[in-house]
Amino acid sequence: MSRTITVIGLGPMGQAMAAAYLNRDYRVTLWNRTPSRADALVKRGATLAATPEEALAASDLTILSLTDLDAMYAILEPAEAALAGRTLVNLSSDTPEKARAGARWVTEHGGTLLTGGVLCPPPLIGTADASTFYSGPRETYETHREALEVITGKTDYRGEDPGLAALMYQLNMAIFWPSMIAYWQAVALADAHGLTATDIAPYVTENFAGMGHFVDFYASRIDAGNHEGDVDRTAMGLASMDHVVHTASDAGVDTAFPEAVKHIFHRVIDAGHGADSFSRAVELMKKR
Ligand code: NDP
Repeated sequence: MSRTITVIGLGPMGQAMAAAYLNRDYRVTLWNRTPSRADALVKRGATLAATPEEALAASDLTILSLTDLDAMYAILEPAEAALAGRTLVNLSSDTPEKARAGARWVTEHGGTLLTGGVLCPPPLIGTADASTFYSGPRETYETHREALEVITGKTDYRGEDPGLAALMYQLNMAIFWPSMIAYWQAVALADAHGLTATDIAPYVTENFAGMGHFVDFYASRIDAGNHEGDVDRTAMGLASMDHVVHTASDAGVDTAFPEAVKHIFHRVIDAGHGADSFSRAVELMKKR
């Protein structure tokens, strides 16, 4: 008997997930607000359900790959009677609080919801090294682990609290988006000097690869409350960031992002910590 899976939400991620299940010979059922996004997958053998109810009923497990939790309610509230006895996996980004509320809502309607946060882009879905955080009922995670490993070969179960996977995902996004915007800034600056994104790619890759060193160096010091300015001083960091801002403005390149970084350095210095490491900024950012 073939294994069954339903995918609700056919953005780039949902499409990649459905394709990965087809590659593994699952019987794949789909539902999407815009049905035409299912066309290529239907040609490959997937079934497009006429309603969310039909999609939920078709498979042992339903994957939700949506923009956010509001989209889940928009789709499933009108179909809430069909949630009883169903198992869902929410791989849609949202806050830990909304993930918890979403899990409670599904439970109240007799279903089970596992929360997940996928740590790879669509082209890496279905590959062995990509990874996904999960949290929620452990039994559900263990029961469906094999099916979840089709999405990413690695799974990282964080615990029973459905908010934990969402939290781990948001921690990663807090790093990912600003880091990539910093990269776009560098590309814009390179472009102003006649260098292409491809020209600077090896240097950017090396820069990102080196970040692990800084994480290793600062993590234990931060946890010990040690912000000694022995290897870097915030005043030096501000001067260096100022050079970045001026290199950009001299070239006519946007300065909004480096100015925002400078603002953080200023706050550390204004608080009297100019001689400390810029890791001191963590203390300014922490919950009061
Ligand atoms: P998209 O936002 O492109 O698409 C998500 C899906 O949500 C679409 O099927 C869309 O339907 C549906 N949707 C959105 N709002 C509603 C609504 N109100 N009612 C019904 N359906 C709705 O997301 P992605 O596919 O790129 O990503 C899915 C999730 O995975 C997101 O939460 C994202 O943060 C996360 N993620 C994305 C990655 C990426 O690189 N793309 C990487 C890792 C995680 P329709 O087709 O009708 O518009």
